[in-house]
Amino acid sequence: MWGALDAESQAAYDALWARTQGHPVAVLNADGACSRCGVTQNSAAAQRVRRGDVLVKCSGCGRILVAAES
Ligand SMILES: [Zn+2]
Repeated sequence: MWGALDAESQAAYDALWARTQGHPVAVLNADGACSRCGVTQNSAAAQRVRRGDVLVKCSGCGRILVAAES
């Protein structure tokens, strides 16, 4: 997945990695909440995460959200 990132995204990812102390990715729980900070994402953001076509960041902690394994 990360191999497709362009340079700008890679830089943002690296910065996020540093800021989140090596945990830049959070799982979007089935109830639409971030697994790291517990903030519930709005439904549009949750849909984008589940489609997986764009990077969506948590509105609470800024981590990249990935859909929970179903
Ligand atoms: Zn969060």
